[in-house]
Amino acid sequence: MIVSIASGKGGTGKTTVATNLALFLSGEKSQGLQFLDCDVEEPNAYIFLKPKIEKARPVSLLIPNVDLKKCNFCGECAKVCAYNAIVVLKKEVLTFPELCHGCGGCSLLCPENAISEREREIGVLEEGRSGSIKFVQGRLNVGEPMATPVIRAVKKTTGPNGITIIDVPPGTSCPVIEAINHSDFCLLVTEPTPFGLHDLKLTVELLEKLVIKHGVLINRAGIGDEKVKEYCAKKGVPIMAQIPYDEQIAFLYSRGIPLLVNAGRYREIFRRLWSRIEDEVKGR
Ligand code: SF4
Ligand code: SF4
Repeated sequence: MIVSIASGKGGTGKTTVATNLALFLSGEKSQGLQFLDCDVEEPNAYIFLKPKIEKARPVSLLIPNVDLKKCNFCGECAKVCAYNAIVVLKKEVLTFPELCHGCGGCSLLCPENAISEREREIGVLEEGRSGSIKFVQGRLNVGEPMATPVIRAVKKTTGPNGITIIDVPPGTSCPVIEAINHSDFCLLVTEPTPFGLHDLKLTVELLEKLVIKHGVLINRAGIGDEKVKEYCAKKGVPIMAQIPYDEQIAFLYSRGIPLLVNAGRYREIFRRLWSRIEDEVKGR
């Protein structure tokens, strides 16, 4: 079962929920438990799960390398590139590696076989263990705009059995779609404020388009207003759990201490949350 934990905006407590859900499941001795941190621009689940990283490998894109001795400057490569990553001049072919998505279209269509491919490193994939949890995270290199290939590399490690928890990047753009896609369920972490509601609406629309079952967890319940609940009722989106506003949660977060380690009273919330997720996935 693949469960992704997402939020339209950052700072809603998405990683707190994702890591504590994984810790709850590890306490239940769930088999084949895996945690994927797909928030590759700012992976921070490791702070709470404290994994021992056992191996790391670079994530690269294949970008074009043009041999001007073979090139006839026909312009076919530039025509096929949807990202304007290759430009053909009279006697020169310019490539823009930061714009290249590594699709291989230009080298495939070059009539002179003038384009070979070379690797460009954009990030790193790290794998390890946190107790019984198999832990995988991607790290995008600083300043690198292309998060999706790193997320794809992280997701490729998903095991065929057991439970996989995915920490999704914030927002509603391509990296979010890559991280959420093929989930059996997506839990949307939000807060009961106008900003929370605004971003929640965008993410719900996205999940409806992707046809992925979803539900909402209201974090910091008690602050703000009732509009998130009213919206969920109107849309028929189930509210899976609520975590009350509690200064101790912020205190523990700032010290990298998981809730379930130092505030055991929250275990019951995660137990009921998981039971509801299972019911939703199995259509009960
Ligand atoms: S398609 Fe090949 S031959 Fe044509 S301009 Fe591009 S590199 Fe040169
Ligand atoms: S590999 Fe794809 S994205 Fe990159 S330059 Fe070629 S056509 Fe454009």
